[in-house]
Parts: sequence; structure tokens; C-alpha cells
Amino acid sequence: MKFEPISGRELPRFSGIKTFFRLPHVAIDAGYDLGIVGVPFDGSLSYRPGARFAPTRIRELSALGRVYHWERRLNFVEHLKVADLGDCPTVPIDVMKTYGAIENYFSKLLTLNKKFISVGGDHSTTLPILRALYKKHKKPLAFIHFDAHLDTYPAAWGCEYHHGSFLRHAIEEGLVRGDLTFQLGLRGPLAGQEDLDFVKKHKLNSWTVEDLRTSPLESFTKKINKQIGKVPTYLSFDIDCLDPAYAPGTGTPVVGGLTTYETQCLLRRLAVPLVGADVVEVSPPYDPSDITSLAAVDTLFELINIFALSQK
Ligand code: MN
Ligand code: MN
Repeated sequence: MKFEPISGRELPRFSGIKTFFRLPHVAIDAGYDLGIVGVPFDGSLSYRPGARFAPTRIRELSALGRVYHWERRLNFVEHLKVADLGDCPTVPIDVMKTYGAIENYFSKLLTLNKKFISVGGDHSTTLPILRALYKKHKKPLAFIHFDAHLDTYPAAWGCEYHHGSFLRHAIEEGLVRGDLTFQLGLRGPLAGQEDLDFVKKHKLNSWTVEDLRTSPLESFTKKINKQIGKVPTYLSFDIDCLDPAYAPGTGTPVVGGLTTYETQCLLRRLAVPLVGADVVEVSPPYDPSDITSLAAVDTLFELINIFALSQK
């Protein structure tokens, strides 16, 4: 089987059944290296809904994708067999049942020694994925976190598990290392100064947009690459790290964010051993021009290339 996109000359890009990057849709136990999986769940959102529709819309927009990375001089299909695995099962009206289904699905994928990129879904979907990875690696991972928000917030409406608390749980459960957590794109306002207590206590490397704009971007990626070294790493990309001008279609937009070019520059300078990654919080109903889904497609392309680079 060829793990290559359908040619745009054979079938024009607006035609055919949509898969991520027009790659083959295969079973979970097929002979691919890197599987792209949809996780269509938005039951843990606190504001705007709609992220359940993201995998479908991002598949559609990814028909514009290509395989050769100009800046990296890298053609990912020469190094990596990438496929669309379809969607992970979810239960739209039950958070706990969905977390169980996600953990099961990714545990199976990891038992087969596959790498993956998950396309959410709200940010809470990252937690059960990290639980599955912990069962596999048996030690906490390094964690690169693009986000406007800390996501270490307390329970909301008496509910522990929501899209703004996944990282607090991941650190408290020992799934990721606080001192090897790198947050990029943060910005306010916060509820109060106490929102930063968790960050200090667990020694997170938390960088605001202001931080990223006042030193060269390379100084941050160099620090990340050096400190992580060979520690297995997970990268989670909340699309709201981008300014709403670049990514309006998201659950909790915050102005004053990163540009798509800045996130491209950051992702292109990362050289870390990824064991999994995700792109989350895209809400197509709030994305009338598809600009947010398009930013998600480009981020997926950069992530595929980080995996491909480690295979070179
Ligand atoms: Mn988030
Ligand atoms: Mn966010």
C-alpha cells in the first residue's frame, strides 16, 4: 500500500472523499507509522461550542495540503508512512464515558507501537490521551503547550474535568513533568494572581506573548530543545494561542495573540522526540471563512514534519 496523498491531477482537490491531507484512510492496525485521528468531542467546553465538528472540517480544508516542506527541504512521505485513521469513538453527552473511550482507543494504538496526531475536540481530550501514553512509557513526559490559557484552573461549576483544567490534572496525576512543561502564547486577563500559584509550585516554563515578543524566538526553542533532550515529548496546540485575527473560530478567543507566522517559526525550530501531538479547540461554526481550520491544517503539516525529521 502507498501512503501518499491522492494526486490533484488525478482527482482535483475539491473532489473525492475527504481524508486528512488526502492520505489513505486505514484501520488502526495497518502498516502506517503516524496516524492522524479525529477526536470529535466538545462536552467539556465552558463557552462557545462546536469543536466536535473540527475533524470533519479540517479534513476538508486539508485537501489543499502538499507534502514538501520548503524551509526544511523535507518530503514527509519519503520518511514516514502517514495515514488517516478516522475518528476515535466518543459519547457526546458524557465526559467520563468519552474519556474512557479515548483512553481505550489510544492505548490500543500505542500497543501497536504507532505514533499519532490527534485532531480535537476540546482541550480536555488531551488528558485521556496522556493517561494512555503514561501506561505505555511508565514515566512522565515533557510537554510543549501552545495556548492563550494556562489550563491549570480549578474545578468549574463543581466539575473537576473541563477544557481549562486538563493540565493541572496531567501534572497532579504525574503524566507530564512540570519542570519540562513549556507554555507558549499565554496572555491575560486572569481571575486573580492566585491563578499563577500552580505554575510557580510546579515550576512550569510559562511564556506570555509579551515574553515571546521581547526576545528572539530562537532563544525559546533552543531552551526547549536543550532542556528536553531525549525525554519523550507530547505537543499540544490549542488554536487559541493564535490571535483571533488568525483563528477566530475557537471556544474562548483572547486578543493579543501569536501570528500564524510566529507559530510556524516556533514549530520549525523544534527538534524534540515527539511521541504524540494534538491540535485542539477549533470551532468551525464560529469560523465563517475557514481561516481557523486552515491554520490548523498548516499546524498539522508542521507537526508531521517534526515526526518526519526524527525518522531521517
Ligand atoms: Mn487550552
Ligand atoms: Mn486556550
